[in-house]
Amino acid sequence: MTASSTPRDCATDLIIRAMHYAAMRHRDQTRKDGKTPYINHPIALAATLSNAGVREPSILAAAMLHDLIEDTATTDTDLRAEFGSEVADLVLEVTDTKFLSKPARKRLQRAKASRASEGAKLIKLADKICNLRDILARPPADWTPQRKQEYFDWAAKVVSGLRGTHPVLERKFDAVVRVVSA
Ligand code: NDP
Ligand code: ZN
Repeated sequence: MTASSTPRDCATDLIIRAMHYAAMRHRDQTRKDGKTPYINHPIALAATLSNAGVREPSILAAAMLHDLIEDTATTDTDLRAEFGSEVADLVLEVTDTKFLSKPARKRLQRAKASRASEGAKLIKLADKICNLRDILARPPADWTPQRKQEYFDWAAKVVSGLRGTHPVLERKFDAVVRVVSA
């Protein structure tokens, strides 16, 4: 921090740097609807968290960066060098283990949910809210109604391991599920 900067400047700087970094790394990617720029998703997570009153800069920055290790060539080491260990640890916590089979990853994601740090749980909750909203509004191009339903059921199981973390976010998740079930 320089003599003239404030903690608020530092927080803003961290979040803007994370936003810019994520935008550069995801720049050639779209979501699975085939149209939406990928970066809309991390921004939606940060907005969902902020709207729910989550203002911790490291959590908002990690939300912006949460899919980089899974979906780009970015490594844990890159994030540690660029954003420090607090942010990198959060991203690592919400990253699926790549070398495992898909079913094993899914099992591990559920098992890890209840043991995760508070920050990781908040990011996970926001991720599931945003993915359910995406499936409703701009679903993966080839998903059948049954495939969507399987995702909703699986997301609800993951979120059951996150309950008690943040009532506002949990209510937002339940509200999307109500739309799905209507
Ligand atoms: P996928 O990884 O195949 O797809 C879901 C993920 O895609 C989301 O978690 C999200 O991840 C990303 N995504 C990208 N674009 C969109 C979009 N427009 N809308 C929503 N999500 C998007 O599914 P999972 O492996 O996570 O499977 C979840 C469950 O679904 C499984 O446990 C299983 O029960 C079932 N399944 C069914 C299959 C079938 O063919 N019937 C096949 C595979 C799973 P991110 O936030 O990382 O971008
Ligand atoms: Zn995500």
